[in-house]
This record gives sequence, C-alpha cells and structure tokens, in this order.
Amino acid sequence: MMSSSLTSVAYLGATILFILSLGGLSNPETSRRGNLYGMIGMTIAVLATVFGPRVTMEGLPWIIGAMVVGGSIGLYAARKVQMTQMPELVALMHSLVGLAACLVGYANYIDPMASLNLSHAEKAIHEIEVYVGILIGAVTFAGSLIAFGKLAGKIGGKPLLLPGRHFLNLIGLLVVIAFGYQFLHAETIDAGMFALAVMTVIALLFGIHMVMAIGGADMPVVVSMLNSYSGWAAAATGFMLNNDLLIVTGALVGSSGAILSYIMCRAMNRNFISVIAGGFGGGAPAKKSGGDAQPVGEVVSISAVETAELLREAKNVIIVPGYGMAVAQAQHTVNEITQFLREKGVNVRFGIHPVAGRMPGHMNVLLAEAKVPYDIVMEMDEVNADFPDTDVSMVIGANDIVNPAAQEEPGSPIAGMPVLEVWKAKTSIVMKRSMASGYAGVDNPLFYKENNRMLFGDAKKMLDEVLVALKA
Ligand code: NDP
Repeated sequence: MMSSSLTSVAYLGATILFILSLGGLSNPETSRRGNLYGMIGMTIAVLATVFGPRVTMEGLPWIIGAMVVGGSIGLYAARKVQMTQMPELVALMHSLVGLAACLVGYANYIDPMASLNLSHAEKAIHEIEVYVGILIGAVTFAGSLIAFGKLAGKIGGKPLLLPGRHFLNLIGLLVVIAFGYQFLHAETIDAGMFALAVMTVIALLFGIHMVMAIGGADMPVVVSMLNSYSGWAAAATGFMLNNDLLIVTGALVGSSGAILSYIMCRAMNRNFISVIAGGFGGGAPAKKSGGDAQPVGEVVSISAVETAELLREAKNVIIVPGYGMAVAQAQHTVNEITQFLREKGVNVRFGIHPVAGRMPGHMNVLLAEAKVPYDIVMEMDEVNADFPDTDVSMVIGANDIVNPAAQEEPGSPIAGMPVLEVWKAKTSIVMKRSMASGYAGVDNPLFYKENNRMLFGDAKKMLDEVLVALKA
C-alpha cells in the first residue's frame, strides 16, 4: 500500500498529465499525444487511489472485482460501438458519471463514518456537498439519458414545450431550495433522506424536462453542456469523498465543457440562455412565416460518371462532409478521391462546420482516421469566402450545415445559424439518398438551386463509383 505523501505526488503527476492532455487535444496534430497523456494520467490516478491509504486490504478484492466488471463492459462497448453511435455512447457515459455522483451522495449521507468527528460547521458543509452533489448528479443522469434517446433517434427531435415551462422550472428550483433548508436542519437520518429523495425526484424531472425542451438544431450545445455537467458532478463527488484529484479533474472537464458549449453557441449564432430555455429547431418541417418562399423549382440529378467529369475538369474543389459520410463510412473513399485529384493538380480542400455530424469534432476524427492531410481540412470561417472561386463544392451526406434557409428565410427554425455557402460555387453537388431533411427537420432550398446537382444514393457506394469513373 502507498503512503499518503506518495499518493499526493502521484495525484499531482496525474493532474499535470490531464492538463497536458487537454492542451494536446486542442490540435489534430497533437491529439494522439494528448490522448496518450490522458491515458497515462488516468492509469496513475486509478492505481494511486486503489493502492492508496484510504483503501483497506479487505476492500481491495471488491474494488478489483468491480474494476474487472466495469472495465470489461467498457472494453466491450468501445470495441462494438460503430463510429456513428459514438455520440450516443458519450451521452450514456455522461449519465453514468451523474448516477455515480448520486450514489456516492446517498452512501456518504448514510455512512456514519463520513461525518464522524466533524464540528457543527464542518458537518453543515459536508451536507451541502452531499445535497448539491446529488442535485447535479441527478440532473446530469436524467438529462444525459434523454440526450442519448434523442441522438439514437429513439426520441423525436421536436422540442417538448409544456405550457408555463419556465414557471414549472422556477417552482422546481424553489422546492429544491426549501427542501435543502429542511435537509440541513433534519434531526434524524430518515427526515434527511426524505428531503434528499424529494429533491432527487425533482432534479430527475428537471433533467428530463430541460433536454426534452431543446429542439434538434440545438442538440450540439446540449451534448457539450452535459459534458460540462458531468465534470461538475465528478467534482462534487470529489468534495464528498475528500479526493483532491477528483475535484481538479471534474473542474477541468466541467470548465472545458463550458468553454465548448460557448464555442458551439457562437458557431450556431445562438445565445446560451435561450438554448437552455429551449424550443429552437423543431422536428417537423419548417413553418413558413409571412411571405417566405417555399423551395421551388426542379431537382436536377447527376450520375457518378458526370460527377467524375466535373471533378476532373475542376481547378478548385471544396468537400463538405456531414453526418451521412459517417453513416456511410465513406471517409476512406473520400481520401482516395482527394489523393487522386491532388495528384492531377486539383486544389482540394475540406470545409468543416462546427456542428457537422453528431458530436463536436466528428468530421475531423473521421477524416483523420482516413489519413486526410490536416492542412487541407479547414474550418467554416476559413473557406466560406472562397466558394465564389470554387468550381465544384461537394456535399457528402450533409444537410443542415449547408442550408441557405438559415440566411434567406427569417422564419426558418435555423435562421441566423452560420452555414457553409456551397451554393456560391460554380456547381454544387449534394450526395444523399433521398430528399429527406436533416437532423433539424428543416427543408433545404439548396437542392432546388439552378447550379445544384443531386447525386442520389449511399455516399460510400456512389463515391466508389465516382472513383472508378475518375480512374477510367
Ligand atoms: P444532417 O443530419 O443535417 O444531414 C445528414 C444527411 O445525410 C441527411 O439529410 C441524410 O439524407 C444524409 N445521409 C444519411 N445517411 C446517408 C448515407 N448512408 N449516404 C448518404 N447520405 C446519407 O447532418 P449535418 O452534418 O449536415 O448537420 C448536423 C446536424 O446535427 C445539425 O442540425 C446539428 O445541429 C445536429 N447535431 C450536431 C451535433 C454535433 O455535436 N455536431 C450533436 C447533435 C446534433 P438522406 O436520408 O436523404 O440520405
């Protein structure tokens, strides 16, 4: 067993590795190293905790047994999960952090040892930690489960707008505060448990309500927000268990998730408070306000061979990947086409929308996996001005992120969201299987533009055909 000073040193080392890990993850080129730092840091953290002074010999077999069971489930899930199911898996993991915070909170409250030898003030602080920890944990748990359902398509994207929903939330908050007061003044464990149980039920309902009220288009912010909440839930657990490393790690995850939420809000031109208040981005086709034009005109389709011809003749090509590329697992063929065109002297670049796909950085991960060079993968702001000088813009399984309605129709549910202006290229080609709408459930007038062509079919299958035609 390790001494407490050795454990502290190990914790300090792990903290530094976690900070280096976050630093590494900020850039695709250093992200592998960042992940490695994180893994080493976490291994040190787990070993230092398990073999640290707070675990007794009798407890060790239980902990190792739990680690084997939990580790096996995690390993199985990670190996089995499809890349397209990654966002759901992440949401599910967040819910577990919330659940852990709740369970630790209850265990801590019942455990007589946890508040033994505490002064009156220390006991009050400990109880506040328990109450707040369970509160954050329950909101995270319930919210993440609903987010999982929405991302997996088991729950519709349409926001649930209960009458007087803000009022309901306010009443919930007041009840939670009132029971918090009762909890702190509870004479018996039973009375305390009652207050905790009422608060937990309200927190669970609040978590469900909060995410249910958020429409499809705002989901990216919710995903990163729950990421942040899971960090704060972990930090709360750290306070309850008096574990400094858990507090620091939780705070790192909590604050980086909050920064990510802010970035996502900015990318979507949305105000954080109005995202939380919900109701943006319905699951049903957009309601038109006033005299807004419905998408009109004809849709012109194109074949794989014609697409290959257009690409071969182009000087500048911008590829815009979206969720459909992930579904079709088309990234490797995309890379082969890119390589082929670049060898022929075509300037090929990628335009990545901050909310493309179903999780932050989704497209970057897929393109990196397929070994697309980092220096041609651009952010939206870096390429948006270049579309007028582009011969072909190729939209691969993307929809909402290239929807001109965001700029042209003030009544659209996605009005004001910055989008990639692919229609400004000489020709835009949209690859998808049908005329179906994207995640936000909004019609896309791009399909009807005069210079737009539709290449219908599964992205992987069609790109394979384009590649064959290119090489012919
Ligand atoms: P969209 O969901 O808007 O569109 C994806 C398109 O891909 C669909 O219209 C679909 O059309 C097509 N598609 C699906 N499968 C295939 C396939 N096998 N081959 C070819 N095409 C396919 O995705 P975008 O990436 O454009 O936009 C992301 C959306 O997801 C935004 O609304 C964003 O707010 C939301 N979101 C993003 C998150 C994030 O963190 N990035 C998290 C949660 C939500 P069809 O069925 O006709 O083939």
